[in-house]
Amino acid sequence: MSRVFNFSAGPAALPDAVLERVRDDIPDWNGTGMSVMEISHRSKDFMAVAAKAEQDFRDLLAIPDDYSVLFTQGGATLQFAMVPLNLSAKGDTVDYVLTGSWSKKAIVEAENHCDVNIVADASARHFTDIPAQESWRRSNDAAYLHYTPNETIAGVEFHFVPEVGDTPLVADMSSTILSRPLDISQFGVIYAGAQKNIGPAGLTLVIVRNDLLDRARSSIPKLLRYSIYAESDSMSNTPPVFAWYVAGLVFENLKKQGGLAAMAENNERKSAKLYAAIDNSDFYSNPVRRDCRSWMNVTFTLKDASLDGKFLAESTAAGLTNLKGHRSVGGMRASIYNAVPEAAVDALIEFMLEFEKANG
Ligand code: PMP
Repeated sequence: MSRVFNFSAGPAALPDAVLERVRDDIPDWNGTGMSVMEISHRSKDFMAVAAKAEQDFRDLLAIPDDYSVLFTQGGATLQFAMVPLNLSAKGDTVDYVLTGSWSKKAIVEAENHCDVNIVADASARHFTDIPAQESWRRSNDAAYLHYTPNETIAGVEFHFVPEVGDTPLVADMSSTILSRPLDISQFGVIYAGAQKNIGPAGLTLVIVRNDLLDRARSSIPKLLRYSIYAESDSMSNTPPVFAWYVAGLVFENLKKQGGLAAMAENNERKSAKLYAAIDNSDFYSNPVRRDCRSWMNVTFTLKDASLDGKFLAESTAAGLTNLKGHRSVGGMRASIYNAVPEAAVDALIEFMLEFEKANG
């Protein structure tokens, strides 16, 4: 295969070994004479794949038995609505931490369904840090507290799990899930769009503590209800079978590589060397407070923004693709999820040094 180093924020790079397996499987999957896309989701073959994917995901994250894993659709964006509709009643207060563009979107959606109390707001500092928990203004009676452990656009990450006592903690882990081990028992709900560390877009994973399954508002459509997915093994209607199958291959691959402890080591090392390259230069900079920097999305700007176009053209020509920062912030962003090899980070650092030498 001729593959570039792909720094896309999402849909993002998948492991080469997974793509090779998918390619080999497509015409005649599992000896069925069909592809996995052409067979009933209720067939024995597919049910086995679905169950194994769930089990591997549970193994990777050590998910306790009193949590359900739901394979849903609609992206993390639909979860912005499903969370309040499943966990709160009309008129309830819910707590949200505002640390970037994605938590902002979650807040705007939640405001349609309940009273949102913003416990901390990092917008005045242009989302370059995570407000210390001591400064948060939590409400006494929140139905849950929602936060975004990794803000994909500014590259800001919580390197701690908030302490919220008995309040259910809800986390949008779209761009950090599977990057390191977690203590799931600290959470009420975790959700993540698949298209970064899990697999193809179209699938959204939700981990929900079982005692929270019966809080949904009575008026909501069936497919917005967590309990429907939990009761039907996420097969109450046709699930995104291809994405589910590929996610299963990604989980299998992660286990083979040593699981999430190994991923955490890789991810910390990969991001540390890229931040060091940025910090050691006067040509590149990253404004995020050091203890809040993302392991997954490393943002940086060039000293002279008029060189951005040249940097992007030359990096693309060198096989380093999708480095353009999000349109709302500009600059560059290297998304270095699990499937982006360390060699890609090394090649990027080398390119950055050369570019600085030629243009600095
Ligand atoms: N939350 C975060 C942290 C994200 O990074 C994204 C997508 N980049 C979303 C939510 C929205 O996800 P989706 O496109 O799957 O709805």
